[in-house]
Amino acid sequence: MARYTGAVCKLCRREGQKLHLKGERCYTGKCALERRSYAPGQHGQGRKKPTEYSMQLRAKQTARRYYGLSEGQFHKYFLMAERKTGVTGEWLLRICESRLDNVVYLLGWGSSRAESRQLVTHGHFLVNGKKVDIPSYLLSAGDAVSIKEKSRESDKIKQVVEASAAHPIPAWLDLNRDALEGKVLDLPAREQIAAPVEEHLIVEFYSK
Ligand code: SF4
Repeated sequence: MARYTGAVCKLCRREGQKLHLKGERCYTGKCALERRSYAPGQHGQGRKKPTEYSMQLRAKQTARRYYGLSEGQFHKYFLMAERKTGVTGEWLLRICESRLDNVVYLLGWGSSRAESRQLVTHGHFLVNGKKVDIPSYLLSAGDAVSIKEKSRESDKIKQVVEASAAHPIPAWLDLNRDALEGKVLDLPAREQIAAPVEEHLIVEFYSK
């Protein structure tokens, strides 16, 4: 299925929680979910007791939308997670977190995952010194992500770096703000992942 290109605030309203898909706006009173905290559409305000299946579906959709992934890509990550030793649901989130676009976002380079993805596809970043413009590139512990020397001169990147100055960095990443280089110290533990989902429901969804 192709990537969703419609109004992203509808996705938050559909899932009933903030997925922070719109950058700065998400932290202001202009947030659509704060103004209309019910699902979009004709039946959005109806109250219906959720079924087990609908809860599993919503958990899967929430995670997929949070990371901005297509159905096929998310399912591919689930199959990868199943092959890992350990808790499948946690591995699923860990794999999503280790994508280059997500790490760039967590380093503060981009106000949303969508913006970070776009910066990656425009070729502004190096991984271990080599240009990588594939947002789905999966990083491992020890990998370094930096902003390309030439890109540092661009107005867009200067603006992004300036805006990232106060951005808190998760403990599994390290950022040298002077060198504009981030490092993956280790893949995140579940408690270091902010994704607002109960991942066991996603595992149940795919295990039917
Ligand atoms: Fe979601 Fe942000 Fe839109 Fe609020 S402003 S509904 S958090 S995307």
